[in-house]
Amino acid sequence: MRLIFLGAPGAGKGTQGELAEERLHIVHLASGDLLRQAARGADAVGRKITGIMEEGSLVPDELVTHLMLQHVEAQGAQGSFILDGFPRTVEQARALDSGLGKNGSSPIDLVVDFEVSADLVLSRLSGRRVCAQCGANYHLQRLRPRQEGQCDRCSGPLSVRRDDEPEVIRRRLRVYEEQTKPLLDFYRADGKLRALSGEGQVEEQYEQLIKLLRTEHMVAS
Ligand code: AMP
Repeated sequence: MRLIFLGAPGAGKGTQGELAEERLHIVHLASGDLLRQAARGADAVGRKITGIMEEGSLVPDELVTHLMLQHVEAQGAQGSFILDGFPRTVEQARALDSGLGKNGSSPIDLVVDFEVSADLVLSRLSGRRVCAQCGANYHLQRLRPRQEGQCDRCSGPLSVRRDDEPEVIRRRLRVYEEQTKPLLDFYRADGKLRALSGEGQVEEQYEQLIKLLRTEHMVAS
């Protein structure tokens, strides 16, 4: 099973990707998390990536594509995965297709678009907390940790992402509209696009996702 999760920031891609990884044992490859990890080195490239991410712009296509294809290849030619946050431009989608084609690797089976309104995104992202150690996502209302301020998985401290400030969220939404939304037509033309509401509660959203995967014969009924 090879899936792409599309949708605006805050649509629930990351949370649903983490749940699917935990419950269906599919590798969840989140480009934002992998970029944050890659940028941790204090070298000039790391600082440049961090700067771009903190202002809410997109990291250059070649850089993110190279990083993601490495992780995709590590899953083997048939391995299952969910790509969350990648591709984010039509250029990246083309590079992904050709990367998979080159290695005789299975193609993407399905692209799930999580649909949400801009108002909901703003309120959701302002309540988001992430683990500084392992990157797990929480939310002050939707997905509370068992112990306040502490990650359930690794006990790391929870904090607010720098790019979840309201000004930066607005920019990320603009970037999504201008650069990522054209991908919907790209995958619609391929017949791979399916839409899900991103507006429900976490477990409702997961139910909808599983229902979709059953309909598509990707998980057992
Ligand atoms: P995310 O965690 O998916 O919200 O991503 C956080 C930030 O990482 C984005 O605002 C971008 O700066 C960068 N980023 C993540 N994925 C991509 C991508 N596919 N292309 C370019 N930049 C990306």
